[in-house]
Amino acid sequence: MLNRILSRLSFSQLSFSTYMACQLKFRRRYVEQLYWPQVMSEEVELGQAFHTLSERYYLTGEMDNYPGLLGQWGRNLKEFYPYDSSLEIFPEQQVRFNGDIRLVAKYDLLVNGEKLLIYDWKTTKKIKRSYYENSLQTLLYRYLMAEAGGEYLGRIIKPRDIIMCYWNPSFPREPLYLPYDEIKYRRDGKFLRDIINEIMQKPWDEFFPVTDERICSYCEYSPICHGKPGEGETDFDAEDLSLSWDDIDEFLV
Ligand code: SF4
Repeated sequence: MLNRILSRLSFSQLSFSTYMACQLKFRRRYVEQLYWPQVMSEEVELGQAFHTLSERYYLTGEMDNYPGLLGQWGRNLKEFYPYDSSLEIFPEQQVRFNGDIRLVAKYDLLVNGEKLLIYDWKTTKKIKRSYYENSLQTLLYRYLMAEAGGEYLGRIIKPRDIIMCYWNPSFPREPLYLPYDEIKYRRDGKFLRDIINEIMQKPWDEFFPVTDERICSYCEYSPICHGKPGEGETDFDAEDLSLSWDDIDEFLV
């Protein structure tokens, strides 16, 4: 049964991060499919509003006037990467690879020019090169684009054509550009296949709970595992796991 369920799963940043954080959490969410109500913080809601603002801007070229911080972020975005109707730009694009493995990602903005630029907006934390250079998101997003992007964009895309850029509207002059190459592409393909194989082969009772209880403190399954909701420490780096489940449709029906 385990294999049947998992063979339908398209692995995303969120499912990989969940597995890395706690194998039991992965099993509860993706195998048992226990969807548990999750409270969305104001910070995450504001981040989602910014993503909607960005999508509208790059679809229409018009920047709406929003009050407060969101308005400032919108002005910063317009200055950082102004809409240009002569460019091929694709906001909020979902890309899937259905080959020997199944992968999915949702890209905040793709710009198909001489290079293929992948933009990703981060609104909750200052962008640190040391974290993002080798983060799961960087690995998955660049690899998936090299593997499946050509089909979406109608041209051959080589790893060296791809550059990922993280940008935070609160720090508009500090974008982080991360180019890609063939060596990293091969390394990433192996890493993703190894981890998917590990998950697919894992017996039901070997999805072990995490030992670091800080992770449990913001986990929605804490009532099942610990008999009470987590208290959600704020200083723990939960950025990858604070995404909404609605962000991406990981199961193909
Ligand atoms: S509460 Fe802790 S052990 Fe239980 S699923 Fe969540 S992270 Fe894992």
